[in-house]
Amino acid sequence: MKNYHSLSEIQKAISDGETTLPAVVEGYIQNISNSKSLNIFLETFEGESLERAKEIQTKISEGNASSLAGAVIAIKDNLCYTGHKVGAASQILNGFESLYSATAIKRLLEEDAIIIGRVNCDEFAMGGSNENSSFGSVLNPLNPEYVPGGSSGGSAAAVASNCCLVALGSDTGGSIRQPASFCGVVGVKPTYGRVSRHGLIAFASSFDQIGPLAHNVEDASKVLEVISGKDDMDTTSSSVAVDKYATFDGGTGKKKIGYIHECITNEALDSDVKAKHLELIDKLKVQGHTVEAVNLEELKYLVPTYYVLTTAEASSNLSRYDGIHYGYRSGEATDIESTYTKSRTEGFGDEVKRRIILGTFVLSSGYYDAYYSKAQKVRRIIKEKTEKLFEEYDFLMSPTTPSCAFKLGANTGDPIKMYLEDIFTVHANLAGTPAVSLPLFKHSAHQLPFGVQFMSAPFEEKALLGFAHNLMNTPSLKD
Ligand code: GLN
Repeated sequence: MKNYHSLSEIQKAISDGETTLPAVVEGYIQNISNSKSLNIFLETFEGESLERAKEIQTKISEGNASSLAGAVIAIKDNLCYTGHKVGAASQILNGFESLYSATAIKRLLEEDAIIIGRVNCDEFAMGGSNENSSFGSVLNPLNPEYVPGGSSGGSAAAVASNCCLVALGSDTGGSIRQPASFCGVVGVKPTYGRVSRHGLIAFASSFDQIGPLAHNVEDASKVLEVISGKDDMDTTSSSVAVDKYATFDGGTGKKKIGYIHECITNEALDSDVKAKHLELIDKLKVQGHTVEAVNLEELKYLVPTYYVLTTAEASSNLSRYDGIHYGYRSGEATDIESTYTKSRTEGFGDEVKRRIILGTFVLSSGYYDAYYSKAQKVRRIIKEKTEKLFEEYDFLMSPTTPSCAFKLGANTGDPIKMYLEDIFTVHANLAGTPAVSLPLFKHSAHQLPFGVQFMSAPFEEKALLGFAHNLMNTPSLKD
């Protein structure tokens, strides 16, 4: 099939009679089958997607289809979809079927989107390379010797390999933006509370957000607009009105941007990533934006703070997987105690166990004040500092990641090295702000893509996406 790169392109092709929605869906199913070796999809919903495509095609022909008619969407394996399996890529949820749909999924379906399948990810969204999936690694579609990033590696790879138009991922510390950067697509992490977490399998509840990965800012914005907004099923979802993100009015104005000095001088930063980032700063200035260095002395504390707090929350969230309520139960269990221990020992992978143990430790009496309480205080300082910066600047800017996609296996032996990959992305999750990764660059050495990250103040998605759309459509800014 012809590969489509935007919803408006698909909608136009259908309305011009060049194709039909069932034919578009068949094309994606063909691409999924051709990309099997990349290990992206855990399951494809072929039959029902085609059925839905026929129904929505009829609505299109009758002129009463909704805004996402034509959008074919893949979902990360931590999003519940009624009557479909969901497993967070873990053996502990082996065989588990969703009893209800995530609010985000429900809202997509109400707008006539088609869910084409569920995609691989790091187990319980813990990881930055997709190598922690119990179903094996996803390979980067741009070069299969490299990781696609994580934890939403399947989501980014699905978009990059044209196996879907848009994918939903989740972002706790960078899991949408980092794989978007590694696979050359757009990734959006919304403000904490912008999108309901109801039906998202919890990793660290005060950090997790669902968001889109897409070929362009326009499609990401359209999908974000649909999934955003207050939901009675999630008390942390915000009642702040949802703007029309995809109209992009105001995106062309001159902005005041702070680039984070500590990111650009970070010793982990690849020299080509740095050079291209500095070039972009100059080009933005030429365009009339004000771009200035800002300081974030706390940068070195971000990763430790993130890993203390998220492991603490994860150890609590994952206590529900006890071999009784959900999924997997060990065949070796003989009593209640051994049901818990054996099911959890056999059901969880190494990284998840590492985090449960670390999280239990930082919450344990005697260490709680030294680690958990202290990290909460640091989070507060980071949040306040970030809010202060947004009193002066429209956006904060940094590379999305210190380097491009790395080779499979390159970081698996060294968890700390893997954790440090998150150094630029965890800021937005600690502060609760929205952030996008835009695939503006290609690395000179191996031509792999990498992104630039922009953050805005909470609930300023409209301004952020308008600006991002404008950048993506300015050819001179691209590498
Ligand atoms: N790489 C980070 C981690 O391993 C981010 C994960 C995420 O955002 N879900 O925790």
